Amino acid sequence: MSDCIFCKIANGEIPSEFLYEDDNVVAFNDLNPQAPVHVLVVPKAHHDNFVDDVPAETLLSMERAVRAVAERTGVAESGFRCIMNTGAAAGQTVMHLHMHVLGGRGLGEGLLPA
Ligand code: AMP
Ligand code: ZN
Repeated sequence: MSDCIFCKIANGEIPSEFLYEDDNVVAFNDLNPQAPVHVLVVPKAHHDNFVDDVPAETLLSMERAVRAVAERTGVAESGFRCIMNTGAAAGQTVMHLHMHVLGGRGLGEGLLPA
């Protein structure tokens, strides 16, 4: 996926600061944060979305990344929201699997990000 922005970020082609990295995933701050904490957890391999035959080890890495990000950003105790927009009608704009991790203020019951 040579024209995929998240492939380029996750594989170091575009230099970025990672809050977490392992063999399968990276985590970095969202360019346009919708909350005080807004981090994206992104697999290094290209999958269009969550229901695109994602290997179990990648899903486990995503969970580990979320836990590490929550601890590192100080929202592990207060709570945070994980969102995976899946498909254009759900608001997915980058067609490379990513999980939003949002926190740092009362998120209410809304479906952030808008
Ligand atoms: P979604 O609408 O679920 O596909 O989310 C895509 C997210 O990626 C949005 O919240 C964007 O702000 C974010 N985004 C797009 N390009 C970049 C980038 N180069 N670096 C960080 N975040 C980005
Ligand atoms: Zn990609």
